[in-house]
Amino acid sequence: MKLAKNLDRLGTESAFSILAEAKKVEAQGKEMIYLGLGQPDFKSPKHVVDAAKKALDDGHHGYVLSNGILECRQAVTRKIKKLYNKDVDPERVMIMPGGKPTMFFAISMFGEPGSEIIFPTPGFPIYESMINYSGAKAVPYDILKEKDLKFDPEKILSLITDKTRLLIIINPNNPTGSFVEKPAIDFLAEGLKKHPHVTILSDEIYSRQIYDNKEMPTFFNYPDLQDRLIVLDGWSKAYSMTGWRLGWSVWPENLIPHVNRLAVNSFSCVNAAAQYAGIAALDGPDDFIHNMMKEFNVRRKLVTDGLNNIPGIECPMPGGAFYVFPKVIGTGMNGSEFTKKCMYEAGVAIVPGTAFGSTAKDYIRISFAASQDNISKALEKIKKMLG
Ligand code: PMP
Repeated sequence: MKLAKNLDRLGTESAFSILAEAKKVEAQGKEMIYLGLGQPDFKSPKHVVDAAKKALDDGHHGYVLSNGILECRQAVTRKIKKLYNKDVDPERVMIMPGGKPTMFFAISMFGEPGSEIIFPTPGFPIYESMINYSGAKAVPYDILKEKDLKFDPEKILSLITDKTRLLIIINPNNPTGSFVEKPAIDFLAEGLKKHPHVTILSDEIYSRQIYDNKEMPTFFNYPDLQDRLIVLDGWSKAYSMTGWRLGWSVWPENLIPHVNRLAVNSFSCVNAAAQYAGIAALDGPDDFIHNMMKEFNVRRKLVTDGLNNIPGIECPMPGGAFYVFPKVIGTGMNGSEFTKKCMYEAGVAIVPGTAFGSTAKDYIRISFAASQDNISKALEKIKKMLG
């Protein structure tokens, strides 16, 4: 069997393999607390589940449009109007099977040997994986060097060359939970006006998960960039719908035919019942999100304070998402050693920093999408493990 060479360059998301490993250890009789995977530990809202059931009862069993049913795309544009007061044509919206296909498609569209794509490190691992797969040069901006792990727009702009085709921004960030506020994004957007050859992929999947009543600095705010802006968002995190595989993205008009062809060549369309559920989520009340964020806020403080009280661990308070990204090298272990010991000795599943980029070897990621009880227990176990 002779396989294509580019397969060797495709990376992965190790949070899934860590989950599999932790399940094995648990099956051998060890109690395990899961703080690895990035998904809210809440049930999807009832009115959302009911809408999907109704859609199935009503007979929505067949293929639908490859870019998504019009009602779902319109619900997306209504929500964008409500949240950001921006008008978006539903013809620029794509309904996707999750957030990931948007990055897969965007990077496939722009990446090829000879081109450059700028991306965050540590960052969501699929960016670097897909850039390498495409054959483009992966140009990282390292946020570990920055205060509170927030990216520096000036440094990002300095990386742009005439070969740059795509710039990937994620805010709030996975894995660090760091959140960059509007003035810095304004600066970045202003600088990008001078580089019209660069398309922007703004991953805003954590847009509804920002603490301390801060405003989401969406890239929809910049009219001058709209003809080269791709915004990735979706239902997974905001509505606790990771398993539904439902996401949306907004694309420049000229890219829509290309995205549509990629969709038809791969998944055809997103399942109809999930899209009706998505409409119910977007049009329904936001109480679910507010309640979830209230709970996440308590856990955020619990986990950050708890970790900072352990000698050798330094943990910045995250401004968004549901992750903390502490430096653990002060314990005498790097992130991978710490992660292994946590799983096999303490029975706590976490992810090493290197799962998100090679420079993050002194760090770990902890997801606080777990009950306060389990977070407290995990902190106790880690403390005990460190003696
Ligand atoms: N972007 C980021 C930054 C993420 O963390 C994730 C999920 N962990 C996604 C996109 C993908 O979301 P989905 O599960 O909807 O594909």
